[in-house]
Amino acid sequence: VSERETAAIVTVGSELVEGLRVDTNTAEIAREVQRRGFRVAEATSVGDDQGELAVLLGRLAETHRLVVVTGGLGPTHDDVTRDAAAQALGREMAMDPALVDFLQPFVARHTEPRSAAQVLTQALVIDGAEVLAPANGTAPGQVLATAAGTLVLLPGPPREMREMLERALARFTPVRAAARELGVAGMPESDAQHAAQRALEGRGGIALTVLAKPGDIRVILLDEGAGEAGLDEAVAAVAAELGEACYATDGSTLADVLVREAGVARATLATAESCTGGLVSAAITDVPGASDVLLGGVVAYSNDAKVHLLAVARELITEFGAVSAEVAQAMARGARERFDADVAVATTGIAGPGGGSQEKPVGLVWFGVATRLHVSSTRRLMTGASRGAIRARSTSIALDLLLREVRGL
Ligand code: ATP
Ligand code: MG
Repeated sequence: VSERETAAIVTVGSELVEGLRVDTNTAEIAREVQRRGFRVAEATSVGDDQGELAVLLGRLAETHRLVVVTGGLGPTHDDVTRDAAAQALGREMAMDPALVDFLQPFVARHTEPRSAAQVLTQALVIDGAEVLAPANGTAPGQVLATAAGTLVLLPGPPREMREMLERALARFTPVRAAARELGVAGMPESDAQHAAQRALEGRGGIALTVLAKPGDIRVILLDEGAGEAGLDEAVAAVAAELGEACYATDGSTLADVLVREAGVARATLATAESCTGGLVSAAITDVPGASDVLLGGVVAYSNDAKVHLLAVARELITEFGAVSAEVAQAMARGARERFDADVAVATTGIAGPGGGSQEKPVGLVWFGVATRLHVSSTRRLMTGASRGAIRARSTSIALDLLLREVRGL
Protein backbone atom coordinates (compact mmCIF):
# COMPACT_ATOMS: atom_id res chain seq x y z
CA VAL A 1 0.00 0.00 0.00
CA SER A 2 1.38 3.40 -0.93
CA GLU A 3 1.54 6.06 1.75
CA ARG A 4 -1.12 8.14 0.06
CA GLU A 5 -3.83 5.52 0.06
CA THR A 6 -6.48 6.36 2.57
CA ALA A 7 -8.45 4.42 5.11
CA ALA A 8 -11.60 5.22 7.09
CA ILE A 9 -12.68 3.81 10.43
CA VAL A 10 -16.29 3.61 11.59
CA THR A 11 -17.35 2.52 15.07
CA VAL A 12 -21.03 1.68 15.39
CA GLY A 13 -23.05 1.83 18.59
CA SER A 14 -25.42 4.31 20.19
CA GLU A 15 -23.52 3.69 23.46
CA LEU A 16 -20.46 5.28 21.82
CA VAL A 17 -22.15 8.46 20.60
CA GLU A 18 -24.23 8.84 23.75
CA GLY A 19 -21.19 8.79 26.01
CA LEU A 20 -21.97 5.52 27.77
CA ARG A 21 -18.87 3.78 26.42
CA VAL A 22 -15.51 5.12 25.33
CA ASP A 23 -14.44 4.12 21.85
CA THR A 24 -11.09 2.38 22.11
CA ASN A 25 -11.37 0.41 18.87
CA THR A 26 -10.58 3.39 16.62
CA ALA A 27 -7.19 3.96 18.23
CA GLU A 28 -6.22 0.31 17.94
CA ILE A 29 -7.38 0.04 14.35
CA ALA A 30 -5.70 3.30 13.38
CA ARG A 31 -2.36 2.06 14.64
CA GLU A 32 -2.62 -1.24 12.78
CA VAL A 33 -3.85 0.39 9.58
CA GLN A 34 -1.06 3.01 9.61
CA ARG A 35 1.52 0.29 10.12
CA ARG A 36 0.39 -1.04 6.77
CA GLY A 37 1.04 2.24 5.01
CA PHE A 38 -2.46 3.74 4.97
CA ARG A 39 -3.26 7.27 5.98
CA VAL A 40 -6.37 7.34 8.17
CA ALA A 41 -8.42 10.10 6.56
CA GLU A 42 -11.64 9.73 8.56
CA ALA A 43 -12.73 8.18 11.84
CA THR A 44 -16.39 8.35 12.82
CA SER A 45 -18.69 6.96 15.49
CA VAL A 46 -22.35 6.51 14.58
CA GLY A 47 -25.44 5.30 16.43
CA ASP A 48 -27.36 2.11 15.70
CA ASP A 49 -29.27 3.56 12.77
CA GLN A 50 -29.31 1.43 9.63
CA GLY A 51 -30.26 4.23 7.24
CA GLU A 52 -27.59 6.65 8.45
CA LEU A 53 -24.97 3.94 8.53
CA ALA A 54 -25.83 2.79 5.01
CA VAL A 55 -25.42 6.33 3.64
CA LEU A 56 -22.09 6.74 5.42
CA LEU A 57 -20.75 3.34 4.29
CA GLY A 58 -21.85 4.00 0.73
CA ARG A 59 -19.80 7.18 0.61
CA LEU A 60 -16.75 5.74 2.40
CA ALA A 61 -16.67 2.61 0.24
CA GLU A 62 -16.43 4.78 -2.86
CA THR A 63 -13.78 7.05 -1.39
CA HIS A 64 -11.25 4.97 0.51
CA ARG A 65 -9.03 2.04 -0.34
CA LEU A 66 -9.84 0.53 3.07
CA VAL A 67 -12.86 0.96 5.35
CA VAL A 68 -12.92 -0.79 8.72
CA VAL A 69 -16.21 -0.93 10.64
CA THR A 70 -16.66 -2.30 14.17
CA GLY A 71 -19.78 -3.07 16.19
CA GLY A 72 -23.36 -3.89 15.43
CA LEU A 73 -22.69 -7.40 14.15
CA GLY A 74 -24.36 -9.15 17.06
CA PRO A 75 -27.78 -10.80 17.15
CA THR A 76 -29.93 -8.10 18.74
CA HIS A 77 -32.35 -5.73 17.02
CA ASP A 78 -29.98 -2.80 17.40
CA ASP A 79 -27.21 -4.61 15.49
CA VAL A 80 -27.66 -3.09 12.03
CA THR A 81 -24.20 -3.15 10.47
CA ARG A 82 -24.70 -6.21 8.26
CA ASP A 83 -27.93 -4.86 6.80
CA ALA A 84 -26.50 -1.37 6.39
CA ALA A 85 -23.43 -2.65 4.54
CA ALA A 86 -25.54 -4.83 2.24
CA GLN A 87 -27.80 -1.85 1.55
CA ALA A 88 -24.83 0.44 0.91
CA LEU A 89 -23.24 -1.94 -1.58
CA GLY A 90 -26.57 -2.93 -3.12
CA ARG A 91 -26.04 -6.61 -2.42
CA GLU A 92 -28.13 -9.47 -1.09
CA MET A 93 -27.35 -11.58 1.97
CA ALA A 94 -27.63 -15.33 2.36
CA MET A 95 -27.34 -17.80 5.24
CA ASP A 96 -23.91 -19.42 5.34
CA PRO A 97 -24.41 -23.13 6.14
CA ALA A 98 -21.08 -23.45 7.98
CA LEU A 99 -21.98 -20.48 10.19
CA VAL A 100 -25.44 -21.91 10.84
CA ASP A 101 -23.77 -25.11 12.09
CA PHE A 102 -21.36 -23.11 14.20
CA LEU A 103 -24.22 -21.13 15.78
CA GLN A 104 -26.44 -24.16 16.57
CA PRO A 105 -25.08 -24.65 20.11
CA PHE A 106 -25.83 -20.97 20.82
CA VAL A 107 -29.31 -21.30 19.32
CA ALA A 108 -29.97 -24.27 21.58
CA ARG A 109 -29.41 -22.12 24.68
CA HIS A 110 -32.48 -20.04 23.95
CA THR A 111 -35.98 -21.02 24.97
CA GLU A 112 -37.63 -18.02 23.33
CA PRO A 113 -38.09 -19.00 19.63
CA ARG A 114 -37.56 -15.46 18.43
CA SER A 115 -34.20 -15.28 20.25
CA ALA A 116 -33.11 -18.46 18.51
CA ALA A 117 -33.96 -16.97 15.13
CA GLN A 118 -32.11 -13.80 16.05
CA VAL A 119 -28.93 -15.69 16.87
CA LEU A 120 -28.99 -17.08 13.34
CA THR A 121 -29.00 -13.61 11.80
CA GLN A 122 -25.28 -13.72 12.50
CA ALA A 123 -25.00 -16.42 9.82
CA LEU A 124 -26.15 -13.94 7.16
CA VAL A 125 -23.29 -13.23 4.78
CA ILE A 126 -23.27 -10.45 2.19
CA ASP A 127 -22.84 -11.70 -1.39
CA GLY A 128 -19.19 -12.05 -2.28
CA ALA A 129 -17.94 -11.57 1.27
CA GLU A 130 -15.10 -13.51 2.78
CA VAL A 131 -16.13 -14.73 6.25
CA LEU A 132 -13.87 -14.22 9.26
CA ALA A 133 -14.89 -17.02 11.61
CA PRO A 134 -15.28 -15.93 15.22
CA ALA A 135 -12.44 -17.12 17.47
CA ASN A 136 -13.77 -15.89 20.79
CA GLY A 137 -17.33 -14.68 20.22
CA THR A 138 -20.32 -15.55 18.09
CA ALA A 139 -20.31 -12.71 15.55
CA PRO A 140 -18.35 -13.47 12.36
CA GLY A 141 -16.55 -10.68 10.53
CA GLN A 142 -16.86 -10.04 6.81
CA VAL A 143 -14.43 -8.73 4.19
CA LEU A 144 -15.87 -7.24 1.00
CA ALA A 145 -14.48 -5.88 -2.22
CA THR A 146 -15.80 -2.37 -2.92
CA ALA A 147 -15.53 0.15 -5.75
CA ALA A 148 -12.42 1.69 -4.17
CA GLY A 149 -10.94 -1.29 -2.35
CA THR A 150 -11.91 -3.26 0.73
CA LEU A 151 -14.63 -3.00 3.37
CA VAL A 152 -14.05 -4.90 6.62
CA LEU A 153 -16.84 -5.54 9.14
CA LEU A 154 -15.71 -6.56 12.63
CA PRO A 155 -17.50 -7.18 15.95
CA GLY A 156 -17.48 -4.41 18.56
CA PRO A 157 -16.08 -6.11 21.68
CA PRO A 158 -12.37 -5.13 21.65
CA ARG A 159 -11.10 -8.65 22.30
CA GLU A 160 -13.05 -10.09 19.38
CA MET A 161 -12.23 -7.11 17.18
CA ARG A 162 -8.48 -7.28 17.82
CA GLU A 163 -8.10 -10.90 16.94
CA MET A 164 -10.14 -10.60 13.76
CA LEU A 165 -8.51 -7.35 12.66
CA GLU A 166 -5.19 -9.14 12.44
CA ARG A 167 -6.68 -11.73 10.09
CA ALA A 168 -8.49 -9.10 8.05
CA LEU A 169 -5.33 -7.03 7.57
CA ALA A 170 -3.09 -10.00 6.81
CA ARG A 171 -3.56 -9.18 3.10
CA PHE A 172 -1.71 -5.87 3.53
CA THR A 173 2.03 -6.07 4.15
CA PRO A 174 3.24 -4.02 7.12
CA VAL A 175 5.62 -1.23 6.19
CA ARG A 176 6.28 -0.39 9.82
CA ALA A 177 7.28 -2.56 12.77
CA ALA A 178 4.66 -3.19 15.45
CA ALA A 179 4.71 -0.69 18.31
CA ARG A 180 6.76 -1.72 21.34
CA GLU A 181 5.33 -1.17 24.81
CA LEU A 182 7.34 -0.96 28.03
CA GLY A 183 5.75 -1.06 31.49
CA VAL A 184 7.04 1.23 34.23
CA ALA A 185 5.99 1.28 37.88
CA GLY A 186 7.13 3.34 40.83
CA MET A 187 8.30 6.36 38.83
CA PRO A 188 6.49 9.63 38.06
CA GLU A 189 5.23 9.92 34.49
CA SER A 190 7.42 12.90 33.57
CA ASP A 191 10.55 11.15 34.89
CA ALA A 192 9.74 8.14 32.73
CA GLN A 193 9.22 10.42 29.76
CA HIS A 194 12.53 12.22 30.25
CA ALA A 195 14.40 8.96 30.76
CA ALA A 196 12.93 7.62 27.53
CA GLN A 197 13.75 10.83 25.66
CA ARG A 198 17.37 10.65 26.89
CA ALA A 199 17.68 7.08 25.68
CA LEU A 200 16.21 8.00 22.29
CA GLU A 201 18.52 10.97 21.70
CA GLY A 202 20.34 10.56 18.40
CA ARG A 203 18.09 7.69 17.31
CA GLY A 204 15.95 8.56 14.32
CA GLY A 205 12.75 7.06 13.06
CA ILE A 206 11.05 6.49 16.40
CA ALA A 207 8.09 8.31 17.91
CA LEU A 208 7.57 8.22 21.67
CA THR A 209 4.22 8.15 23.47
CA VAL A 210 3.84 7.95 27.22
CA LEU A 211 0.47 6.81 28.57
CA ALA A 212 -0.10 6.97 32.30
CA LYS A 213 -2.59 4.79 34.10
CA PRO A 214 -2.76 5.21 37.89
CA GLY A 215 0.50 3.82 39.26
CA ASP A 216 1.39 2.27 35.94
CA ILE A 217 3.06 3.96 32.98
CA ARG A 218 3.21 2.62 29.45
CA VAL A 219 6.11 3.87 27.35
CA ILE A 220 5.25 3.24 23.71
CA LEU A 221 7.76 3.36 20.87
CA LEU A 222 6.30 3.69 17.37
CA ASP A 223 8.20 2.85 14.23
CA GLU A 224 8.68 5.86 11.99
CA GLY A 225 11.38 4.37 9.83
CA ALA A 226 13.68 2.75 12.40
CA GLY A 227 12.46 -0.74 11.54
CA GLU A 228 12.43 -3.90 13.67
CA ALA A 229 16.14 -3.82 14.53
CA GLY A 230 16.16 -0.10 15.28
CA LEU A 231 13.14 -0.49 17.51
CA ASP A 232 14.65 -3.44 19.37
CA GLU A 233 17.80 -1.42 20.08
CA ALA A 234 15.72 1.53 21.23
CA VAL A 235 13.70 -0.68 23.58
CA ALA A 236 16.91 -1.97 25.16
CA ALA A 237 18.26 1.56 25.55
CA VAL A 238 15.05 2.92 27.07
CA ALA A 239 14.79 -0.04 29.46
CA ALA A 240 18.38 0.51 30.60
CA GLU A 241 17.69 4.20 31.19
CA LEU A 242 14.50 3.45 33.17
CA GLY A 243 16.35 0.95 35.34
CA GLU A 244 14.49 -1.28 37.76
CA ALA A 245 11.29 0.76 37.43
CA CYS A 246 10.86 -0.87 34.01
CA TYR A 247 9.16 -4.18 34.70
CA ALA A 248 8.40 -5.31 31.14
CA THR A 249 9.56 -4.59 27.59
CA ASP A 250 7.11 -6.86 25.77
CA GLY A 251 3.80 -5.14 26.48
CA SER A 252 3.04 -7.30 29.53
CA THR A 253 1.10 -5.84 32.42
CA LEU A 254 2.40 -5.74 35.98
CA ALA A 255 0.12 -8.66 36.85
CA ASP A 256 1.32 -10.65 33.79
CA VAL A 257 4.94 -10.26 34.89
CA LEU A 258 4.11 -11.07 38.50
CA VAL A 259 2.34 -14.31 37.58
CA ARG A 260 5.10 -15.28 35.16
CA GLU A 261 7.98 -14.57 37.56
CA ALA A 262 6.29 -16.03 40.62
CA GLY A 263 5.67 -19.15 38.53
CA VAL A 264 9.33 -19.40 37.57
CA ALA A 265 10.42 -18.79 41.18
CA ARG A 266 7.78 -21.28 42.36
CA ALA A 267 6.60 -18.61 44.80
CA THR A 268 3.01 -18.61 46.06
CA LEU A 269 1.08 -15.43 46.75
CA ALA A 270 -1.76 -14.23 48.98
CA THR A 271 -3.51 -10.89 49.44
CA ALA A 272 -5.18 -9.06 52.32
CA GLU A 273 -7.14 -6.12 50.98
CA SER A 274 -8.99 -3.33 52.67
CA CYS A 275 -9.12 -0.16 50.55
CA THR A 276 -8.57 -2.04 47.27
CA GLY A 277 -11.49 -4.35 48.05
CA GLY A 278 -10.23 -7.27 45.96
CA LEU A 279 -8.76 -5.32 43.03
CA VAL A 280 -5.30 -6.78 43.65
CA SER A 281 -6.48 -10.38 43.56
CA ALA A 282 -8.76 -9.52 40.62
CA ALA A 283 -5.75 -8.19 38.68
CA ILE A 284 -3.76 -11.34 39.44
CA THR A 285 -6.62 -13.70 38.56
CA ASP A 286 -7.12 -11.77 35.33
CA VAL A 287 -3.92 -13.44 34.10
CA PRO A 288 -4.20 -16.97 32.70
CA GLY A 289 -2.16 -19.31 34.88
CA ALA A 290 -2.77 -17.31 38.05
CA SER A 291 -3.84 -20.50 39.81
CA ASP A 292 -0.19 -21.65 39.77
CA VAL A 293 0.81 -18.79 42.04
CA LEU A 294 -2.15 -17.18 43.83
CA LEU A 295 -3.40 -19.21 46.78
CA GLY A 296 -6.13 -16.76 47.78
CA GLY A 297 -7.01 -13.41 49.20
CA VAL A 298 -9.11 -11.87 51.93
CA VAL A 299 -11.13 -8.68 51.56
CA ALA A 300 -11.09 -7.46 55.13
CA TYR A 301 -12.91 -4.15 55.02
CA SER A 302 -14.14 -3.83 58.60
CA ASN A 303 -12.02 -3.91 61.73
CA ASP A 304 -13.80 -7.10 62.82
CA ALA A 305 -12.91 -8.77 59.54
CA LYS A 306 -9.27 -7.79 59.99
CA VAL A 307 -9.33 -9.30 63.49
CA HIS A 308 -11.30 -12.46 62.69
CA LEU A 309 -10.13 -13.31 59.20
CA LEU A 310 -6.53 -12.13 59.36
CA ALA A 311 -5.74 -12.47 63.09
CA VAL A 312 -4.86 -8.79 63.40
CA ALA A 313 -4.60 -7.99 67.13
CA ARG A 314 -7.47 -5.67 68.05
CA GLU A 315 -5.12 -3.62 70.22
CA LEU A 316 -3.12 -2.66 67.12
CA ILE A 317 -6.24 -1.20 65.54
CA THR A 318 -7.19 0.60 68.75
CA GLU A 319 -3.72 1.98 69.30
CA PHE A 320 -2.56 2.83 65.76
CA GLY A 321 -5.79 2.84 63.73
CA ALA A 322 -6.77 0.56 60.84
CA VAL A 323 -4.73 2.69 58.43
CA SER A 324 -1.28 2.26 59.90
CA ALA A 325 2.03 0.53 59.33
CA GLU A 326 1.31 -1.83 62.21
CA VAL A 327 -2.06 -2.99 60.88
CA ALA A 328 -0.79 -3.26 57.27
CA GLN A 329 2.01 -5.51 58.47
CA ALA A 330 -0.30 -7.59 60.65
CA MET A 331 -2.73 -8.02 57.75
CA ALA A 332 0.05 -9.19 55.44
CA ARG A 333 1.39 -11.56 58.08
CA GLY A 334 -2.10 -12.89 58.75
CA ALA A 335 -2.81 -13.57 55.07
CA ARG A 336 0.58 -15.15 54.53
CA GLU A 337 0.04 -17.48 57.46
CA ARG A 338 -3.62 -18.31 56.74
CA PHE A 339 -2.80 -19.32 53.15
CA ASP A 340 0.71 -20.58 53.93
CA ALA A 341 1.95 -18.45 51.01
CA ASP A 342 5.53 -17.40 50.33
CA VAL A 343 4.61 -13.74 49.90
CA ALA A 344 1.56 -11.75 50.94
CA VAL A 345 0.64 -8.13 50.36
CA ALA A 346 -1.84 -6.02 52.33
CA THR A 347 -3.55 -2.71 51.57
CA THR A 348 -5.22 -0.39 54.05
CA GLY A 349 -5.95 3.24 53.29
CA ILE A 350 -8.37 6.11 53.04
CA ALA A 351 -9.83 6.14 49.52
CA GLY A 352 -12.19 9.05 50.28
CA PRO A 353 -13.87 11.27 49.47
CA GLY A 354 -14.86 11.28 53.16
CA GLY A 355 -13.17 9.74 56.17
CA GLY A 356 -9.95 11.73 56.09
CA SER A 357 -8.44 13.65 58.99
CA GLN A 358 -5.55 16.05 59.54
CA GLU A 359 -3.38 13.19 60.65
CA LYS A 360 -4.66 10.63 58.16
CA PRO A 361 -5.80 12.46 55.03
CA VAL A 362 -7.69 11.01 52.07
CA GLY A 363 -5.14 9.31 49.84
CA LEU A 364 -3.04 7.89 52.68
CA VAL A 365 -2.44 4.19 52.05
CA TRP A 366 -0.29 1.75 53.97
CA PHE A 367 0.96 -1.43 52.33
CA GLY A 368 2.25 -4.46 54.18
CA VAL A 369 4.43 -7.19 52.74
CA ALA A 370 5.15 -10.47 54.50
CA THR A 371 7.46 -13.27 53.45
CA ARG A 372 8.52 -16.33 55.42
CA LEU A 373 11.51 -14.31 56.69
CA HIS A 374 10.37 -10.75 57.22
CA VAL A 375 7.51 -8.28 57.33
CA SER A 376 7.67 -4.70 56.12
CA SER A 377 5.43 -1.75 55.36
CA THR A 378 5.34 1.09 52.84
CA ARG A 379 3.47 4.39 53.10
CA ARG A 380 2.07 6.28 50.15
CA LEU A 381 0.18 9.55 50.10
CA MET A 382 -1.85 10.23 46.96
CA THR A 383 -2.89 13.82 47.45
CA GLY A 384 -5.72 15.16 45.34
CA ALA A 385 -6.57 11.82 43.73
CA SER A 386 -10.13 10.52 43.33
CA ARG A 387 -11.40 7.41 45.08
CA GLY A 388 -11.07 5.45 41.85
CA ALA A 389 -7.54 6.68 41.19
CA ILE A 390 -6.44 5.97 44.77
CA ARG A 391 -7.77 2.42 44.56
CA ALA A 392 -6.30 1.83 41.08
CA ARG A 393 -2.92 3.26 42.06
CA SER A 394 -2.89 1.25 45.28
CA THR A 395 -3.52 -1.87 43.22
CA SER A 396 -0.53 -1.16 40.98
CA ILE A 397 1.66 -0.42 44.00
CA ALA A 398 0.61 -3.68 45.69
CA LEU A 399 1.38 -5.68 42.53
CA ASP A 400 4.73 -3.91 42.22
CA LEU A 401 5.57 -4.67 45.86
CA LEU A 402 4.74 -8.34 45.30
CA LEU A 403 6.88 -8.41 42.16
CA ARG A 404 9.87 -6.84 43.90
CA GLU A 405 9.55 -9.35 46.73
CA VAL A 406 9.30 -12.29 44.31
CA ARG A 407 12.39 -11.03 42.47
CA GLY A 408 14.26 -10.79 45.74
CA LEU A 409 13.39 -14.27 47.01
P1 ATP B 1 -21.90 -8.73 20.01
O1 ATP B 1 -23.30 -8.15 20.05
O2 ATP B 1 -21.79 -10.07 19.42
O3 ATP B 1 -21.20 -8.63 21.33
P2 ATP B 1 -21.39 -6.52 18.26
O4 ATP B 1 -20.54 -6.50 17.04
O5 ATP B 1 -22.84 -6.34 18.06
O6 ATP B 1 -21.04 -7.85 19.00
P3 ATP B 1 -21.69 -4.30 19.92
O7 ATP B 1 -23.01 -4.83 20.38
O8 ATP B 1 -21.72 -3.12 19.05
O9 ATP B 1 -20.89 -5.44 19.22
O10 ATP B 1 -20.77 -3.99 21.14
C1 ATP B 1 -20.67 -4.87 22.22
C2 ATP B 1 -19.83 -4.23 23.30
O11 ATP B 1 -18.50 -4.08 22.83
C3 ATP B 1 -20.24 -2.83 23.71
O12 ATP B 1 -21.17 -2.80 24.74
C4 ATP B 1 -18.95 -2.22 24.17
O13 ATP B 1 -18.72 -2.58 25.52
C5 ATP B 1 -17.93 -2.89 23.31
N1 ATP B 1 -17.58 -2.02 22.20
C6 ATP B 1 -18.26 -1.90 21.04
N2 ATP B 1 -17.67 -1.00 20.24
C7 ATP B 1 -16.62 -0.53 20.93
C8 ATP B 1 -15.59 0.46 20.63
N3 ATP B 1 -15.57 1.12 19.48
N4 ATP B 1 -14.67 0.69 21.57
C9 ATP B 1 -14.69 0.01 22.73
N5 ATP B 1 -15.59 -0.90 23.06
C10 ATP B 1 -16.56 -1.18 22.18
MG1 MG C 1 -24.48 -3.15 19.46
